[in-house]
Amino acid sequence: MSDDSLLDRALVRLEAAASHLQIDPDVIEKLKYPRETTKMRLMIRMDDGSRKSFLAWRCRYDDTRGPTKGGIRFHPDSTVEEVETLAFWMTFKCAVMDLPYGGGKGAVRVDPRTLSKSELERLSRAYMQAFAKVVGPNRDIPAPDVYTNAMIMGWMADEYSQIVGEVSPAVITGKPIALGGSLGRNDATARGGYYLVRHLAGELGLGENMRVAIQGFGNAGQFYARLAAGDGHRIVAVSDSSGAIHSDAGLDVEKLIAGKAEGQSVAALAGVLGARVIPAEDLVGVDCELLVPAALEDMITVGNAASIKAKVVLELANGPVTPDADKILEERGIVVLPDILANAGGVTVSYFEWVQNRQGYYWDLEEIHARLRKIMEREGRAIWTIARERQVTARTAAYVHALGRLSTAIEAHGTQP
Ligand code: GLU
Repeated sequence: MSDDSLLDRALVRLEAAASHLQIDPDVIEKLKYPRETTKMRLMIRMDDGSRKSFLAWRCRYDDTRGPTKGGIRFHPDSTVEEVETLAFWMTFKCAVMDLPYGGGKGAVRVDPRTLSKSELERLSRAYMQAFAKVVGPNRDIPAPDVYTNAMIMGWMADEYSQIVGEVSPAVITGKPIALGGSLGRNDATARGGYYLVRHLAGELGLGENMRVAIQGFGNAGQFYARLAAGDGHRIVAVSDSSGAIHSDAGLDVEKLIAGKAEGQSVAALAGVLGARVIPAEDLVGVDCELLVPAALEDMITVGNAASIKAKVVLELANGPVTPDADKILEERGIVVLPDILANAGGVTVSYFEWVQNRQGYYWDLEEIHARLRKIMEREGRAIWTIARERQVTARTAAYVHALGRLSTAIEAHGTQP
């Protein structure tokens, strides 16, 4: 693996795209660095009466195309660099989908599984208190990410409304339906990827009854498994942070989801599912047609890219494939549907939520699905066409597509100062 930092490696994709376009160097200079990153220390009271502090960040990477948008992650390994890289990806993701947003991201360095529910609530509210001046419906709009969910977004929305003295649901998306959340936001990340694969299946050489392996069985992984199984595809392997399981006959997705909801790990469910426990690192090399990384960054590297047997990789996670691994997959003819397109269903339905909050009129589920599908197919098709015409990977095509929109907006803003 290369020694470059995560953000340096992310910028490799920007440079690759820039080499295919006539881009003003000012545009690249603007997109190379985050505009603003705020770091705070959150102090909360623990249930045992002690006080504990947690590091937290919010990055607004670029707001040329609109208010910055992106999730808040609660993870014990979060770093400022990871937050800034994720915010860079959000900038490109929102441009890929033509949403009127820039890119942002936030995080708290914490393992939320070690907190009680009331500690988690105090931490979520403390985050909003600390960043109340950074966020705002026209400034920066957070959402869920790894280990955060609708309940946490609800607490944060409530805290913000108390601070500003008015009900302000559009400050955050991914809220509970009862607090102005949108129908269809919970499975939107997976559903976007599902519409994309279905739309391009012919070109990708994916047929009926394909075998699917899913790395990570959180929000994106679980909903993708359900949608793919619903179309008759076989989910042959899944993993979570505690291990992986495999069954060539296919796993019972509903039993898996029910077991996870009860707090069990996928490995603990192997017995009831008639599956075999395999080492977690073997998941990416399982025999299948579609591999779906749905966990964290840097999961497919030069160390394991050669073992992949899938024809297509659908990046439901952000940044799961390193640039060096990209090259190996390209040489091997494996198509990667890149994160900034493949998992953009989440932020797209977040956009729908924000629009509904602002207009005060709410759409039904069919409307959400139809609008999401239309955008995924439109942008997926455009990127596929760029990839074919320019003979580049789908990832480079997605960056070319986004960079064209970003540079038009940066140039339209003018050159002063
Ligand atoms: N955290 C999600 C992402 O990485 C969703 C962001 C949002 O909805 O704003 O795309």
